[in-house]
Amino acid sequence: MFRVAIIGGGPAGMMAAIEAARGLGKTLREVVLFEHEPKLGRKLAVTGAGRCNISNDGIKASAYHGPEPAWTESLLEGFAVEDLERALYRLGIPIYKTDDGWYYPLSQSAASVVAVLEERLLGQGVLMRVATYVRRVSYKEGLGFELTFKDYASGEKGIELFDKLIVATGGKSYPELGAKGHFFSQLEALGHTIKPLYPALGPIDARLGAFTALQGQRFDAHTAIFDGEDCLGRSFGNLIFTKKGLNGPGVMNLSHLVTQSPEKNLQLEVNFIGPWIEELAEAASDENNHASVRALLLRYFAPKAVDFFLTQAALNPQKFVQELTELDFQALIQTLSMTRFDITGAGDFSNSQLTAGGIATEELDPYTLQSKRFAGLYVIGEAVDIFGPCGGYNLHIAFASGYLAGKSLAEMNN
Ligand SMILES: Cc1cc2nc3c(=O)[nH]c(=O)nc-3n(C[C@H](O)[C@H](O)[C@H](O)COP(=O)(O)OP(=O)(O)OC[C@H]3O[C@@H](n4cnc5c(N)ncnc54)[C@H](O)[C@@H]3O)c2cc1C
Repeated sequence: MFRVAIIGGGPAGMMAAIEAARGLGKTLREVVLFEHEPKLGRKLAVTGAGRCNISNDGIKASAYHGPEPAWTESLLEGFAVEDLERALYRLGIPIYKTDDGWYYPLSQSAASVVAVLEERLLGQGVLMRVATYVRRVSYKEGLGFELTFKDYASGEKGIELFDKLIVATGGKSYPELGAKGHFFSQLEALGHTIKPLYPALGPIDARLGAFTALQGQRFDAHTAIFDGEDCLGRSFGNLIFTKKGLNGPGVMNLSHLVTQSPEKNLQLEVNFIGPWIEELAEAASDENNHASVRALLLRYFAPKAVDFFLTQAALNPQKFVQELTELDFQALIQTLSMTRFDITGAGDFSNSQLTAGGIATEELDPYTLQSKRFAGLYVIGEAVDIFGPCGGYNLHIAFASGYLAGKSLAEMNN
């Protein structure tokens, strides 16, 4: 009997198990999915605030951090957005695109996605061993991969041999949802390189000063991280002022720049008016504009924010737009577009959505995710040293790598 083990029942592992089982057919094979949580896909079930933001129109190699772009390009060549759409549709998970190019399941339910994947696993005859923790893996020459595991329900330990092994154990983020990063040491013991792990897609803590008054206010803003005058990265997106700093995609996309260099004194620049600066300048210079400067800003911001910005710029809210002097306008633009905060820290693994780092991509074939060191070993999903911004980029990689590994494993062993 040809035996395949998949460790980790997240999106990557479930997709790999379904594809491997489908490709291998049902005779003379056993596909076993190990998951140490009592349920599959616990993290998947909370993605996209329960709606499962599954992919994005902007997916391209340059959007991802970690590997050489050529590696990511090869992976995405094998599994682009249209391939994901097709593969999910076949499984019974149609997806749709929002106006801003973010993809979600038609059900708008991450829980439905998990439930459908579970049914497909059953349908393909995958043996699901939930509440089972794989502690150790070793390679036995001529025999295959030996897994040592513990079944939490029965309390029993087991040792079993498998011909092929797919590792889909995730990273270290949100450990209460399953993945804790324990399995990296096993991959290292097999001879693989683990790139340093650090939290990504988390909040950024900063000294807000007077801007503490904006706590709870949301903005669509341009953001950038500076080390002195060097810009380390830029982003655009929704953000919210919190007690300790800022949160939301607009800053989460930059938090890895803080966590990867905690020793640096970095600053966060927030440009609140970025998307509308030209429109604002035009409206301000329009001779027929008889509005107050307060009314002008209310086009873009909530009243609380408008009053705060006008106080910061030392402008009388009742002043008419036409009465603004060049100096007034410059003070306003300065407040709205060039506010810099000293960064004091960023989210840790407990509140950052992703783990950056992981198994070195140069040690994996980007078309199959098979290890270049160990024939028959595949590593997929968040365990691999690649991550993208908020917006479905990371689930795309999880599903893409799972699909490619499962499919190629089956093709090579049929
Ligand atoms: C709150 C939150 C919201 C998110 N929202 C989005 C979103 O909307 N869009 C997006 O693209 N990404 C999102 N992400 C990121 C996304 O969830 C991950 O990229 C994705 O889940 C990674 O999939 P994976 O299968 O590689 O790993 P995981 O989903 O982490 O699955 C790994 C599984 O392996 C199991 N496991 C680990 N070690 C062992 C072991 N030794 N034995 C047995 N089982 C083991 C774990 O229990 C876990 O279930 C979000 C993340 C979080 C935390």
